[in-house]
Amino acid sequence: MKLDYSLFFKGSAVENANLKRDFFKQILYSTIFSMIATLILGFILNKDPYFILINVIILLFLAFLFVAGRSDEETFMQKKIYIAYTFVLGSLLLPLLYVFGGGIHSGIPLLFVVAGVTTILLLDNLSMVIMLILNFASIMFVYYLDYKLGYCDKFTFLGNNTYIDIAMSVCFVGPFIGLFLRELVRRFEESQEKANELLGRIENAATKDPLTGAYNRRYLIEYIDKCISKVDNGELGAFSILMFDIDHFKNINDTYGHLAGDDCIKSLTVILERSLRKVDVVSRYGGEEFICVLPSAEDTPAFRRAEQIRNTVENTILSEVIDKTITVSGGVAMYKAGMTAQELIEAVDRNLYIAKESGRNQIVWHDGGIPPLVYAVYSPDTLQPVKNSGRRFSDATKF
Ligand code: GH3
Ligand code: MG
Ligand code: MG
Repeated sequence: MKLDYSLFFKGSAVENANLKRDFFKQILYSTIFSMIATLILGFILNKDPYFILINVIILLFLAFLFVAGRSDEETFMQKKIYIAYTFVLGSLLLPLLYVFGGGIHSGIPLLFVVAGVTTILLLDNLSMVIMLILNFASIMFVYYLDYKLGYCDKFTFLGNNTYIDIAMSVCFVGPFIGLFLRELVRRFEESQEKANELLGRIENAATKDPLTGAYNRRYLIEYIDKCISKVDNGELGAFSILMFDIDHFKNINDTYGHLAGDDCIKSLTVILERSLRKVDVVSRYGGEEFICVLPSAEDTPAFRRAEQIRNTVENTILSEVIDKTITVSGGVAMYKAGMTAQELIEAVDRNLYIAKESGRNQIVWHDGGIPPLVYAVYSPDTLQPVKNSGRRFSDATKF
């Protein structure tokens, strides 16, 4: 179960507050409960009236901080409140409680642990060190009083309550520290989740094209470079790239408008992503130009895949508002040892150019060399309509 402390501090800016502020509120909340319990215990064990009085003072002091903390959001004021809290509680009230609670025979020494924990959590640098020394000194002082003068013993009523006193204190201090750790872990997980999400978004923004969600040119070049070094190292057998460009796209924009043009670009992305494998990278290279990287693919399977895509596009409605067939031209190039990413892209671009020159709606490889035999038949279950209308993927079963 997630503990939501904001319920107890309604009206304050818990959501926007810093971590320390949240911690302080929990510390306050926990100490108020601890002190109420100590007060009840004090009554039950018939403690000295001073013990009861100091408890009441502590409670009033905590209530004051509770109200002060609620009304003030300033960091400077917050720091003062933390210092006041750790000083008054750790150096004054708890040592007094020790004296009047029956000294070493009481459970109060366990509460000193809480003072130390909160001082370290709430204060920083010099103020933390000074406060720890102060807390430590006052604790030592009352221990000394107790040890040397036996001063505290006279406040132990009803015989020796050590066992029940300490047992009860353990019951307060244990959950108190447990709550801190629990909240720490929750906060840590929460911030890690947020950081991961943010990283994902940044990565997405840096590597993807906003219109289509396809990878951008920068990612493409990096990916090609990776494939090149893998082939050179022998980790990868081969890889090929495909390049597509929509035919007469200017006319489409001019006739049907830019939004219809955008639709075509998006639909083409869907076709490319569905036609290729998970390991293949689809990137938007320019306006309506796409380059796909196919790791492990030699040029023959790459050509067949490109031809399948060309055929799919021709048989698919890319935009509801466009009532004519849209086609793409494409090029294929396989990486050969010694090529750079740029040279590989130039090679595929040359083939695309030849496809355009030779009448469009075709795929070219090897600078216009005779294409391989294309016999692939679509597997019907991988074919999905891009748009719910007219021509569908399933119409394009054969080349
Ligand atoms: P070709 O068959 O030779 O490729 O002819 P084309 O008309 O397609 O010529 P080209 O490839 O040079 O045209 C690119 C056009 O793409 C020009 C530009 O207006 C359009 N374009 C570029 N980016 C976008 C975009 O994001 N959305 C839309 N709707 N159009 C774009
Ligand atoms: Mg074009
Ligand atoms: Mg173009």
